Formats: sequence, C-alpha cells, structure tokens
Amino acid sequence: MFKKILYPTDFSECAQAAIPYIKTMKKAGTKELVILHVIDIRQSTIIDTTAFGETFIYPYDISDILKKEAESQMKTLIKQFSRIFHVTPLIVEGIPFKEIIHAAKLHKVSCIVMSSHGKSNIEEMLLGSVTEKVVRKSPVPCLVIKRA
Ligand code: ATP
Ligand code: MN
Repeated sequence: MFKKILYPTDFSECAQAAIPYIKTMKKAGTKELVILHVIDIRQSTIIDTTAFGETFIYPYDISDILKKEAESQMKTLIKQFSRIFHVTPLIVEGIPFKEIIHAAKLHKVSCIVMSSHGKSNIEEMLLGSVTEKVVRKSPVPCLVIKRA
C-alpha cells in the first residue's frame, strides 16, 4: 500500500517535520521515495525597482539561483534517505500543487506524505494552500503530518 511514496517539499522547517515519519515507513513496506521540489514560476521573476535608482523597473529571472539553491538542499535530503530507500529526486518548475499531482500520477506513487504547513506557516490556517489542494485533488491517499 505504501510501496512508493511521494514527498513534496519546499525545504522549510515545517516540511522537514515529515522526514522522521517517512523514515519509519520502511516498516510499512516502503521501498521507493520520490522527493519533489517545485520552483514556483510565480516567484521566479523579481521586479527590482531599486536597480539604477528609482527610474528603472528591471524584471529579472532568478530561476537559475533558485535551481542551484534547490539542488543543494536536495543533496542533503538524498543523503538522509538513500540508505533506506531507492530515491528519485525531482526539481521542476511550475505551480506547486499542479506539479505534485502530476508527479503522483506520472510516477505511479501509492501515497503522498507531506506536512500540513510550509514556508509561510500561518498560525490561523488549518492547512497550507498547497497541502489543501493536494489533499483535494490527489488520486492516492495522503498522509498529512501536523506541524509541531
Ligand atoms: P501558504 O503557501 O499557503 O501561504 P504554507 O507555506 O504554510 O502556506 P504550503 O505552501 O501549503 O503551506 O506548504 C505545505 C506543504 O506543501 C509543504 O510542507 C510541502 O510539503 C508542500 N509544498 C509547498 N510548496 C512546495 C513546493 N514549492 N514544492 C514542493 N512542495 C511544496
Ligand atoms: Mn507555501
């Protein structure tokens, strides 16, 4: 039932809370782990109004910087999991919830394991917006780890 799981992460402290639970899933029969980070295309362009004084509006693409940062974070995760599972690390660009659902289907995972909250971690929210959409649209069971 949990043979191949998908762990989507924004690399935040909340997202890391799922790690110890994922590790124990070996006992539930998990063999393969797909780790997915989505570079949010809505955040990969910065409009820098301070460049060259205030007269210029200078949009620039920071997706290369985000990709490098994501690769380094991903390496740390691979190290943590590769002794336990067969790991497939994925870094893609897009809208997070859409890419998570797409990856779940494409890689035929049996379960999605993720934290209830992420980078924003707004106290009043029962679930972060990505987790809420994933739970709504996922074709497979989701295990949502509550924040501490
Ligand atoms: P919000 O983004 O709605 O302001 P939040 O950041 O607290 O609130 P979410 O973004 O829903 O909450 O994050 C919850 C979980 O969703 C994260 O722990 C992570 O598992 C997943 N997630 C969020 N963003 C991404 C992303 N860019 N790539 C992969 N997984 C993500
Ligand atoms: Mn978020």
